[in-house]
Amino acid sequence: MLGNLKPQAPDKILALMGEFKADPRQGKIDLGVGVYKDADGRTPIMRAVRAAEQRMLEAETTKSYAGLAGEPEFHKAMAEMILGDLYKPGTTAALATVGGTGAIRQALELARLANPGLKVFVSNPTWPNHVSIMNFMGVPVVEYRYFDAETRGVDFEAMKADISAAKQGDVVLLHGCCHNPTGANLTLEQWAEVAAILEKTGATPLIDLAYQGFGDGLEQDAAGTRLIASRIPEVLIAASCSKNFGIYRERTGILLALCADAATKELAQGTMAFLNRQTYSFPPFHGARIVSTVLTTPELRADWMAELEAVRGGMLKLREQLAAELRSLSGSDRFGFVAEHRGMFSRLGATPEQVKQVKEEFGIYMVGDSRINIAGLNQTTIPILARAIIEAGV
Ligand code: PMP
Repeated sequence: MLGNLKPQAPDKILALMGEFKADPRQGKIDLGVGVYKDADGRTPIMRAVRAAEQRMLEAETTKSYAGLAGEPEFHKAMAEMILGDLYKPGTTAALATVGGTGAIRQALELARLANPGLKVFVSNPTWPNHVSIMNFMGVPVVEYRYFDAETRGVDFEAMKADISAAKQGDVVLLHGCCHNPTGANLTLEQWAEVAAILEKTGATPLIDLAYQGFGDGLEQDAAGTRLIASRIPEVLIAASCSKNFGIYRERTGILLALCADAATKELAQGTMAFLNRQTYSFPPFHGARIVSTVLTTPELRADWMAELEAVRGGMLKLREQLAAELRSLSGSDRFGFVAEHRGMFSRLGATPEQVKQVKEEFGIYMVGDSRINIAGLNQTTIPILARAIIEAGV
């Protein structure tokens, strides 16, 4: 039977990681996979995360099953972090999931149960796994224009025109902050215009919030999501704790369904728990408990926020340095977008040939669409990358 399987195309970014590992060159530079790295190339365990784990080790008395939808403390702590004062427990269904990816998957399953004829509008480009999951599920994908190849900013007029075609029962997938792969984001005024379109069309937003705290700050990065939540009666939010808590392998995420009334919340909550049970039964506990411990213990929370701010500030500095280096090498401001973008990524706008040239000649690995991981850079590699970008004629 298994011999009938068809080979699946490998994930391009994971394949690039393999290629990088196999490259024998000394000075090779990995700007591929979306994992935060410090100046020494390490992905550290955050101090507050380690402290929370130590407390858990001492306090935990059992490894028996916990909640099918996750723990109430985790739901509350995350919903408050994302929504602030807008969090209304009476109308918000919450589900602990296997990472942010699990939250996206369950959000799509939930939406499809509510509307079997569902279509999902996604930005072009978007995180490739969005489209790949939807294709696998057989959910039709409608792309909306997003990235302006000329300015490397958001082509907002085109985006507005395209998402206006969404109808009630459709889902519009939005990146809450730190757009992956482009780094180009909506302003708050633009979020308000998106909200107006959603109000008019009745389409349901699904906000993917995978980098809260990596862009302009923990509160600022939630501002778009909060604006939508304040105006649209039904909102789905899929959040990941992988990046902002640095707990990638613990697989920690949450799906929030903001509902118009308490009865709908009960219906959504029951269906969401059902979805967990049908998929993997109980969600991972450990990472969620780390997160709720950090967020509800004042000294751990303060330390976590300080460390997250340092990570964010470090990436911003790298952006500014890269932009300055490119300004001086090119004698122009055409790479100013690198400093304007936010989050871990920037799409440089290089052609596939230029990406290949940069890899072959300089040993610099970026994703094929010319997405670079800013956190993969340091003081030594910034000038090398800048020179490669200019020499490749980007
Ligand atoms: N959404 C986006 C845009 C992402 O970049 C990622 C991580 N690469 C995720 C969701 C999911 O993250 P995870 O499943 O690792 O929590």
